[in-house]
Amino acid sequence: MNLYNLKDHQEQVSFGQAVRQGLGRQQGLFFPETLPVFDDVDALLELDFVARSSKILSAFIGEELAAETVAQMVDTAFQFPAPVVPVKDGVYALELFHGPTLAFKDFGGRFMAQSLAAVSEKDGKITILTATSGDTGAAVAHAFYGMDNIKVVILYPKGKISPLQEKMFCTLGGNITTVAINGTFDDCQALVKNAFDDVALREEIGLNSANSINISRLMAQICYYFEAVAQLPKAAREQLVIAVPSGNFGNLTAGLLAKAIGLPVKRFIAATNVNDTVPRYLQTGEWAPTPTVPTISNAMDVSQPNNWPRIEELCQRQGWGLDTLGYGAVTDAQTAETLRDMNAAGYLCEPHGAIAYRVLNAQLAEGETGVFLCTAHPAKFKEVVDEILEKDIPLPAPLAKHNAMALLSLERDNDFAQLKQVLRDAQ
Ligand SMILES: *Cc1c(COP(=O)(O)O)cnc(C)c1O
Repeated sequence: MNLYNLKDHQEQVSFGQAVRQGLGRQQGLFFPETLPVFDDVDALLELDFVARSSKILSAFIGEELAAETVAQMVDTAFQFPAPVVPVKDGVYALELFHGPTLAFKDFGGRFMAQSLAAVSEKDGKITILTATSGDTGAAVAHAFYGMDNIKVVILYPKGKISPLQEKMFCTLGGNITTVAINGTFDDCQALVKNAFDDVALREEIGLNSANSINISRLMAQICYYFEAVAQLPKAAREQLVIAVPSGNFGNLTAGLLAKAIGLPVKRFIAATNVNDTVPRYLQTGEWAPTPTVPTISNAMDVSQPNNWPRIEELCQRQGWGLDTLGYGAVTDAQTAETLRDMNAAGYLCEPHGAIAYRVLNAQLAEGETGVFLCTAHPAKFKEVVDEILEKDIPLPAPLAKHNAMALLSLERDNDFAQLKQVLRDAQ
């Protein structure tokens, strides 16, 4: 598999290099030079989730890893289902929260861990550094926990993720170090970028990123879009609209990649909260990020979504106008109202999924089938969901266990020197 740097097309890397490096020169994102072609998508859709996903990922990776190796990686990473659940006539939820940390980031995080282990020298140092607005942290921490030759350092904005989210990944210890930063998620992302710019540090500790910029995460996410279509009635295939609750836009990138390699999807909808840089861009053509605003869908509190350049590249290469993307932004009050409506209709959701559901409903045309992505289990946002629905939703077992454990996070300022020390101490 060949990938190029979007900021410097001369920089070309293999899958292994892209996975190990995360980012290229000038903090450029890697993008596949060619996409696999599947002549018979219907046959692909007949396969079970693991077999189909192995085929897709092996086709992307090519000769670099044996098909059996990829199959084993997928088998280890994808040990939980992604069910499609009818919510109302013609509208389905794709539930991506049945993994160990109850969010869709388990798919990307676990395949990334498998990929990194498969492409790394057995005795080299590896330090994963990632910033999280909530769920990436848990998925990455759990995916790597106990792989003792890989150190993991996770930054998050102090006080800006839910207490339960924090408990999920800041209670592990061992090879996992978590750092509460006095700042926003964008500050955390900037610190990560600083670290990657520091070439000496990068080499010293074998720095690697594991957030949604790592190509292996996106590749894994392509697979559940196929899984969704495989579960829908065949008649729905040509009239399918998928709404994606978006923050850093990795999930939507993966969906568009799925379409590019042949998945029958009529159009995608980018749904955000009031951190609406992309919806405003799609409407006005002007890229004008504003300061990040905290919302009840805090995993999407991102005003400078770092996967956007990949979407632009893909659309350009495929000849898709950006005007084919639907979009919409939803306020907290609207999110709460939608959660209540959904609950009244018999579907318990959480703020991120509700945002996608709302925008989907507003834009679904007659005869179309809608799917919205449910990116987290409602109990992961228990405080918010309980208050809005006046309920006391039970904690599923993995959450209850971590909720009872002590927080082990360090606290640091938004200061690169302090981060550097943490990274060295983690070794
Ligand atoms: C990360 C996350 C999102 C946003 O996904 P992106 O790929 O960053 O756009 C949405 N919902 C939840 C629950 C998340 O954790």
